[in-house]
Amino acid sequence: MSNEKQRREALVYHAKPQPGKIKIVPTKPYATQRDLALAYSPGVAEPCLEIAKNKDNVYKYTSKGNIVAIISNGTAVLGLGDIGPEASKPVMEGKALLFKIFADIDGIDIEVDTKDVDKFVETVKMIAPTFGGINLEDIKAPEAFEIERRLKEELDIPVMHDDQHGTAIISAAALLNALEIAQKKMHEVRIVVSGAGAAAVSCTKLYKAFGAKAENIVMLDSKGVIRKDAENLAPSKLEFATDRKIDTLEEAMIDADVFVGLSVKDIVSPEMLLSMAKDPIVFAMANPDPEMKYELAVSTRKDVIMATGRSDHPNQVNNVLGFPFIFRGALDVRASAINEEMKMAAVKALASLAKEPVPEQVNIAYGETRLTFGREYIIPKPFDQRLISEIPPAVAKAAIDSGVARIPIEDWSKYREELLQ
Ligand code: NAP
Ligand code: MG
Repeated sequence: MSNEKQRREALVYHAKPQPGKIKIVPTKPYATQRDLALAYSPGVAEPCLEIAKNKDNVYKYTSKGNIVAIISNGTAVLGLGDIGPEASKPVMEGKALLFKIFADIDGIDIEVDTKDVDKFVETVKMIAPTFGGINLEDIKAPEAFEIERRLKEELDIPVMHDDQHGTAIISAAALLNALEIAQKKMHEVRIVVSGAGAAAVSCTKLYKAFGAKAENIVMLDSKGVIRKDAENLAPSKLEFATDRKIDTLEEAMIDADVFVGLSVKDIVSPEMLLSMAKDPIVFAMANPDPEMKYELAVSTRKDVIMATGRSDHPNQVNNVLGFPFIFRGALDVRASAINEEMKMAAVKALASLAKEPVPEQVNIAYGETRLTFGREYIIPKPFDQRLISEIPPAVAKAAIDSGVARIPIEDWSKYREELLQ
C-alpha cells in the first residue's frame, strides 16, 4: 500500500461515519418514565446515599470498577514526540478501543494541557475518584518517572505507565523464552541495551528482577556506552553504568548473548551481529524502524532469535499483549496497585502461554499453518483468545498473594469462564 493511500485510509477511518473511535452507551433500560425515574431523579439519590455512607459502595453502584483513564499530556506520542494534548487524542482513543475489545474495560481518554509535573499529578489525583485504574501514556521521560512514582504513592487504585512497563513485561516474556530456546541462563548472559530512555530503563530493571546480573549489562545512550567513570550521569542511567572501559556499540556487541534495542533505527551492522555469541538474541524494538532490519538479521545469521516492534515479522513485541489483561486482573480483585509481583506474574503467564499448542483459530487469524514454540514464535499473538483467560487470573492471583487485592476470587474456574464471555 502506498503511503498516500495509507494516509487517506487512516484519515477516513478516523473521520467517518462519526469522528473518533469510541462512544458511551447506557447499560440500563431507559425506555419508560419509570426507567428514567430510577436512572436519574429521584431514584439516583438512593445509591448516592449508600456511597456517602460507605465509599466502597461506589464499586457496587457505579461503573468505576470497570473504567480506566488513559491519561497523557502529549509530550512523547508514539515516535512523533511532543505534539501536544489534542494531537495525542487519537492515540488515547485507540488505546480505549484496545482496552474494550481485548478485555471489555471502558477506557476514557483524558488529555491534560500541562508539562508541569506538580500540576499533572494534582490533576490526576483530583479526578481519580471516577476511575478504577489509571493508565499513563506517552509522557516524556524523565517527567514520566516522577509522575508515576508520585501517583502510585498517593492513589489507592492501580496506576501504570504503559510505555515503560508494557514493553518491559512483553519483552521480558519473550526474553525468558528466547533464552530457553538458546539454552542460556538469565544470570549468565551478557546483555547490551541500546537506549537509556523510559522503555530501556524499565525493561532492563525487569530483566534484573528475573536474574540478569548488573555486571553483565552494558547500556548505551546517544553518546555511546554509559560508563561509571563518566561525568554528570543522570540518576536514571547511573544504575546501568558499566565498569568496562569500552565506548562503542561495536565493542559492546563482541560476544554478547542478547541485544535489546530501544533507541533508533539501523545502528546494528551485520559485522556487529556476527561478533555476538552463538544463538544471539536480538530484540530490535525501535519503532517503526528497528535497530537492524529483520531480513538483514536473519540473512546474516541463521542462529539469530529476533524480535521487533513490527507486526509484519515474527515475534512482535506489542504492548497490547499486556495492558488490557493486566488491568483486567487488577480491577477484578480491586487491587490498590499494580506491583512488581503482578508484573512478574504477567511475564510468566505470557511466556508459558507461548509454549502451549496454538489453537487453530489463531493460525487462521494470522494466515499461518502451524505456529509452534520456537525461534519464530516466542510470544503469543494478540488475537489469541487464551490471553483473556490466562493472563488476568495470573495477575489477580499475584495481587491476592502480595496483599494488594481488596476482594477475593472464590472460584477460579468460574472466573476464567466469565473472562471468556
Ligand atoms: P526515549 O525516552 O526518548 O529514549 C530514547 C533513548 O534512545 C535515549 O536514551 C537516547 O539517548 C537513546 N538514543 C538515541 N540515539 C541513540 C543511538 N544512536 N544509540 C543508542 N541510543 C540512542 O524513548 P523511549 O520511549 O524509551 O523509546 C525508545 C525507542 O523504543 C523508540 O523507537 C520507541 O518507538 C521504541 N519502543 C518500542 C516499543 C515496542 O516495540 N513495543 C515500546 C516502547 C518503545 P539519550 O539519553 O542520550 O538522549
Ligand atoms: Mg505509548
